[in-house]
Amino acid sequence: MTNLSPNGLQILQARYLRRTEVTETPDELFQRVAKHLITVEDEDHEFWFDRFYGVMRHLEFLPNSPTLMNAGLPKGQLSACFVLPVEDNLEAIFTTLKNAALIHNSGGGTGYNFSKLRPKDDIITSSEGSSAGAIAFMKIYDTATEYVKQAGKRRGANMGILNVTHSDIEAFVTSKSDRESLQNFNISVGITNDFMNAVKNNLEWQLVNPRTKKVSKTIRAKMLWDLIVDEALKTGEPGLIFLDTINQDNRLPKQGKINCTNPCGEVPLFDFESCNLGSINLTKMVVHDGKKNEIDWNKLDKTISIAIRFLDNVISSNHYLLPNIKHITLANRKIGLGVMGWAELLIMLSIPYASEKAVDLAEVLMKFIQEKSYAASGNLAQIRGCFPSWKESRYAPNTLLRNATCNSIAPTGSISVIADASYSIEPLYALAYKRTEILNDKTQIEINSIFVEKMKSLGFWTEEIQNEVIANGSIQNIKHIPKNIKKLFETSLEIPWKYHLLHQRAFQKYTDNAVSKTINLASNTTANEVSEIYKTAWKYGLKGITIYRNGSRANQILQPCGVN
Ligand code: UDP
Repeated sequence: MTNLSPNGLQILQARYLRRTEVTETPDELFQRVAKHLITVEDEDHEFWFDRFYGVMRHLEFLPNSPTLMNAGLPKGQLSACFVLPVEDNLEAIFTTLKNAALIHNSGGGTGYNFSKLRPKDDIITSSEGSSAGAIAFMKIYDTATEYVKQAGKRRGANMGILNVTHSDIEAFVTSKSDRESLQNFNISVGITNDFMNAVKNNLEWQLVNPRTKKVSKTIRAKMLWDLIVDEALKTGEPGLIFLDTINQDNRLPKQGKINCTNPCGEVPLFDFESCNLGSINLTKMVVHDGKKNEIDWNKLDKTISIAIRFLDNVISSNHYLLPNIKHITLANRKIGLGVMGWAELLIMLSIPYASEKAVDLAEVLMKFIQEKSYAASGNLAQIRGCFPSWKESRYAPNTLLRNATCNSIAPTGSISVIADASYSIEPLYALAYKRTEILNDKTQIEINSIFVEKMKSLGFWTEEIQNEVIANGSIQNIKHIPKNIKKLFETSLEIPWKYHLLHQRAFQKYTDNAVSKTINLASNTTANEVSEIYKTAWKYGLKGITIYRNGSRANQILQPCGVN
C-alpha cells in the first residue's frame, strides 16, 4: 500500500480520489492512472502497468494534478498547461474566454499575451466607440475564473502578459496595486533585450499602439523599470518574462515566435499549445553506501526513462478540449519532466543550499536528467517515430526525439504535498509550519521530518530545539548549535537572494522549457535589491523571474512559524 503522509492523504481525499458509490483508495487512484496510460501501449501491457503504477505508488514520480484527477474518466483532460491566443476583436476575446473556462473546469491553467489588444480609449470602427483596453478584458477573464473555480476541484490559474512596448504597459504594471484586482492572475511584463539595454543606458523608450503601429508615448526606460520594481516590491508583481531569451531557445522557430508561458512560467508555449508535466521526487533517489547518503544515479536513470514514457503516453491518451489544441499538441508533443524535494535531498546529502557545492550539484543533476530524458525520448522516437513537426525543428536532421521539449521545473504546489517532498527546487520556507487543514480548517503545527531525522542523526535533537523551531521556524538563533549545522538548515528567507538565482540558473541551464521559482525575500528588502535581482535574472539567461517579499500579500496558505 502507498505510504502517504497525513497531509498527502488529506489532499488526495479532498480533491483527487474518484467518488462513485465508494470512494477510491490512493492505490486505486494510481492504478486508474496506470491502467489508462497502458491503453496506448502496443504490447507488454502488464510490464508497463507495473512500471507506471510502481513509480507513483512509491511516490518516486507523480504527473501533474489533472492527470491524477482525470485519467481514466470519460473525456479525461490530463494537461496542466495551456496558452490561448487573444486577438484584437470582440468575438475572439470572448471565444478565448469560453475556451479558458472549459480548460479551468478540467483542472488546467491558461496563459495569454494581451499585447495584440488595442489600448484603452482607442477607436473601435464598427461601433464608433472606444476600447475598454487589455486590463478591462483581463478583469472579465478574472471574474469568469472566479466563478468557474467554484465548480471545479482546482483553482483556475491564469498568466497575463503584456509586452513592454504596449501603450497600456504602465496601467498593466500597476493593475494589481490595490491587492484586490486580478486575484486569479499572475502578471508578467514581456521584456526584450532592447528594453534591458535601454534601461542600462538610460535611454528613451517608445510605447506603441499595436493597432496603428504608431508610437503613442515616449518615456524614459528607467522610469518604467522603476515603476515595475516598486510595484514588485509592494505586491510581488509583475514578474518578468524574457521573450528574447525564450525565443533564442525555441526548438521550433519555424512555427513562429513564442510570446507566452503557462501560469507559473515553467512552459513557454505557442498559441493553443498544451504541455504535460511530471516531477521526480528526489528524496526517493538516495542510497546509503554504508557511510553516507549518495544520489542513486541508477535508480534516477530508470525513473527518468519510465517518466518520459509515462508523459509521452499522457499525450497520446489525452482528451483534447479543442481541435486547435489537439493539432499543435500532437504535432510537437511537448512534455516537462522536473523535480521536487531538491532542498530535502541537499539536507540528506549534508550540503547547505546556500553553497557553491549545492549549485554545482544542481548543474550535474539537471544535466543528467536532461541527458537521460533526451535518451529516453530518442528511444521512443525509434519505436514510435519522432514528433510530427520534428523535420522543421532544430533537432533535425541528426537528433531523433519523440518530444519537442522534455524538461520543465514546475512549482509542484500540490503533488509535492501528495509525495511529502519539499516544493520543486525551492529551499525550505521554514523548518516548521502552521498549516490550516483543507477539510476542517483546523490549524496544525508540522516540523519538517527530514530536518528532524538529520538533527537526530547528528545528535542535536532535543526538546529545547523542538520548542525553538515551533516558536521561530528556524535554528539560526540557538547558541550552542555549530555554524555548519545552522548553515545546513537555512530557510528561504535566510538564504541570500544570490543563491536563489544561482539555483534557478543551474537548473535552467539544462532545462529546455523553463524553471518556475520564487525568489523569496525578507520584508525589509529594498527597491534597489529588487532591481538588482531582476537585472541579474536577465544576465543569467533565466526565462522568467518571480519574487515574493514576505508579508506583501494576505492569505499565505502556509504560515511559516516565526517568519515575519
Ligand atoms: N495550475 C493550475 N491551477 C493551480 C495550480 C497549477 O492551473 O491551482 C497549473 C499551472 O499551469 C501551473 C501548472 O499547473 O503552472 C503546474 O503547477 P504545479 O506544479 O503547482 O501543479 P501540481 O501538479 O502540483 O498540482
